[in-house]
Amino acid sequence: MTDTNGKINLLGLTQPEMEQFFEKLGEKRFRAGQVMKWIHHFGVDDFAAMTNVGKALREKLEAAAYIRGPEVVSEDISSDGTRKWVVRVASGSCVETVYIPQGGRGTLCVSSQAGCALDCSFCSTGKQGFNSDLTAAEIIGQVWIACKSFGSVPATIDRAVTNVVMMGMGEPLLNFDNVVAAMKIMMDDLGYGISKRKVTLSTSGVVPMIDKLGEVIDVSLALSLHAPNDELRSQLVPINKKYPLEMLLAACKRYVSGLGEKRVLTIEYTLLKDVNDKLEHAEQMVALLADIPCKINLIPFNPFPHSGYERPSNNAIRRFQELLQKAGHNVTVRTTRGEDIDAACGQLVGQVMDRTRRSERYIAVRQLNGDSDAPRSTASRN
Ligand code: SAH
Ligand code: SF4
Repeated sequence: MTDTNGKINLLGLTQPEMEQFFEKLGEKRFRAGQVMKWIHHFGVDDFAAMTNVGKALREKLEAAAYIRGPEVVSEDISSDGTRKWVVRVASGSCVETVYIPQGGRGTLCVSSQAGCALDCSFCSTGKQGFNSDLTAAEIIGQVWIACKSFGSVPATIDRAVTNVVMMGMGEPLLNFDNVVAAMKIMMDDLGYGISKRKVTLSTSGVVPMIDKLGEVIDVSLALSLHAPNDELRSQLVPINKKYPLEMLLAACKRYVSGLGEKRVLTIEYTLLKDVNDKLEHAEQMVALLADIPCKINLIPFNPFPHSGYERPSNNAIRRFQELLQKAGHNVTVRTTRGEDIDAACGQLVGQVMDRTRRSERYIAVRQLNGDSDAPRSTASRN
């Protein structure tokens, strides 16, 4: 992607794209590897620091390209080690990135869009409407910023970021090309060298794109199920009206078995008190998932003001989990992390610019935390 000066941002280029760039410049392809290592292993954004690149080529690079991630607006560190960055993207909106350390793992939760058009009833991102797709540079830039904050290390050495989940703001399958490019850089040894099982894309169920994903990349898939029947799911996750459960689960089955080696499928289920947390829902879920190899991750609802939903009691959560476990499922309950910095799932609100009145004001979504008159997005829904 080029900017107004015709320069290209090298941060979002995959290895083949970087090689093409150097070929067009009349240079050898191996330069791609050198420059990618400087960018992704060492966090460099200045060609002058690339000591194994000769002065003439560095000058050529200055004239043709630049390296720029999204602007960091804030970085918060929670008492439990969770970190949260708010970054501003080119459209003017802000999105959030969260780092969650746990045992020997460090999971980075990355955003793919500013806002989201899919409007799930319990999701604060959905409440803001859609503003813009993030570029590949803005998506991989979140990994770049997080890694830089821990100090740069080559991919061969233990990194702070061991896992990436595309579970921040936005529906990753509706920003397909940019998300795929960024995930390729995450898995590339010249990028972040993260194994394919440790890069997970979470979707609310854009069926045709699940098939397309399986054709172009091998990553783990998480499906945001949230309801075990079409009637309830269509209320909570409106895209279910277009792609109902039968179609959706068939696509997930194709995805996991699409390769010789099985891919990993996780079913995510946000538990909402008195809505989808009854034992009959767990029973329906057992029947629905009977022949689908998967892990189940229960996410107790993370409340936000005016959501209209509540988190179930710990007892209700445990009973739901036990019923699924008795049926032979591997079921985890997601613990809430980083509560003191509003970093929990579904609390990522960023600051999504109102598309329709761009020059006049921002939708200060933060105001939703306590201000009932806070402006709501009137952005068009796709
Ligand atoms: N759009 C994608 C990925 C981002 S949302 C998707 O929907 O899968 C990541 C996960 O957080 C999804 O499973 C989503 O349903 C869940 N989530 C959203 N709001 C939540 C909330 N308030 N409490 C708990 N989980 C929530
Ligand atoms: Fe979008 Fe996912 Fe939120 Fe639904 S849960 S509105 S798909 S970000």
